[in-house]
Amino acid sequence: MAGFEEVNYYFRRAARIMDVSSHVERMLVTPFREVKVDVSITLDSGELGTFIGYRVQHDRSRGPMKGGLRYHPTLDMDEALGLASLMTWKTAIVNLPYGGAKGGIAVDPHQLSDRELERLTRRFVEQIHDIIGPQTDIPAPDMGTNAQVMAWIMDEYSKIHGFSPAVVTGKPVDLFGSKGREEATGRGVVFAMEEFLKDVGGGEIRGKRCAIQGFGNVGSWAARFLHEAGARVVAVSDQRGGIRNPEGLDIPKLLEHARRAKTVVGFPGADSISNPELLVSDVDVLIPAALGGVLTKENANDVRARYLVEAANAPTTPEADEILTRRGIQILPDVYANAGGVTVSYFEWTQNIQQFTWEEAKISTELKRYMSEAYATLSRVARERRVPLRTAAFIVAIGRVGRATTLRGL
Ligand code: GLU
Repeated sequence: MAGFEEVNYYFRRAARIMDVSSHVERMLVTPFREVKVDVSITLDSGELGTFIGYRVQHDRSRGPMKGGLRYHPTLDMDEALGLASLMTWKTAIVNLPYGGAKGGIAVDPHQLSDRELERLTRRFVEQIHDIIGPQTDIPAPDMGTNAQVMAWIMDEYSKIHGFSPAVVTGKPVDLFGSKGREEATGRGVVFAMEEFLKDVGGGEIRGKRCAIQGFGNVGSWAARFLHEAGARVVAVSDQRGGIRNPEGLDIPKLLEHARRAKTVVGFPGADSISNPELLVSDVDVLIPAALGGVLTKENANDVRARYLVEAANAPTTPEADEILTRRGIQILPDVYANAGGVTVSYFEWTQNIQQFTWEEAKISTELKRYMSEAYATLSRVARERRVPLRTAAFIVAIGRVGRATTLRGL
């Protein structure tokens, strides 16, 4: 798991290089608001189900706060804080006019029926509707939530506040969602990786052997786009386990298998491997695309990839980051690598506000432009300051959020 302290470690490492005063540092780290609510519903069985919901609003100096809702059994306040602060830095790095937030419910959504999930989501909105809004805090999908959940949020919020499609992003395309939002994070990961490999002397994506941990929204779309770009995806895993084929997995067939079987496990023509094995597979690029905190001081010395592309949020603990960096493994940090999702969320929000729609080609071109511009800045700062990309990313983010905070008046 990735907590607030882990993110703040990276923050402080960059703040120290920048000579940020200690009171500005304290101000930037301190969350604006932390909300914890009881989300009780009647289960289909007639029994009472009690769950805890969270919404952390970390910083609002650069605009309305933005970030996903995660439905996951281990979610707690510390994780919500860490993920909310990552959103502040992430939106600043891609220069979106947003602050950062994150939240969700401590629940395993697979244990609930669709009706229960709907009741739970609507109850959650009842509890937090007065702190979210199109100009205050705009939720989006994250682990365990999807476009349907966003549709319920929009509907419930609109019952109270009137028609408000812009209160949430990642909605179904048939209900004011944006074309290209579902695949945005995966697509952005591949755009980001292209820039990164070119810049650090890794060459093209074509022919690169990749291992992906997680085959949910982010991992499966990343696999598809990597495959289309000519990479060899040799290992993939999900919660149930992993599969490997050194020749490269047939991704279109795997996508079909995973849709049917609800797991990558059992895919014909591949060996099975465990999740810990996937992380140390013999590949060029390792792409964690699921849980946080999977690369630790216990396994960082065994990682064999030359490049780490963080499609998940906070997959690398500070100790692992240090070990991997010392070992010369180049890291493309989460706050940039997975920013494609929130970037297309921004496009969705602007379309909702203008009541206008963009074609998918425009979404993709604009996403590429945002990702390329952000990378150019990171790479320049990394060279000027002689720091790794993660530190460069935090330097850029702290600069932007710090200036906005100071200009608005401390
Ligand atoms: N949950 C995604 C993230 O971690 C997307 C957030 C959004 O679109 O607001 O970046």
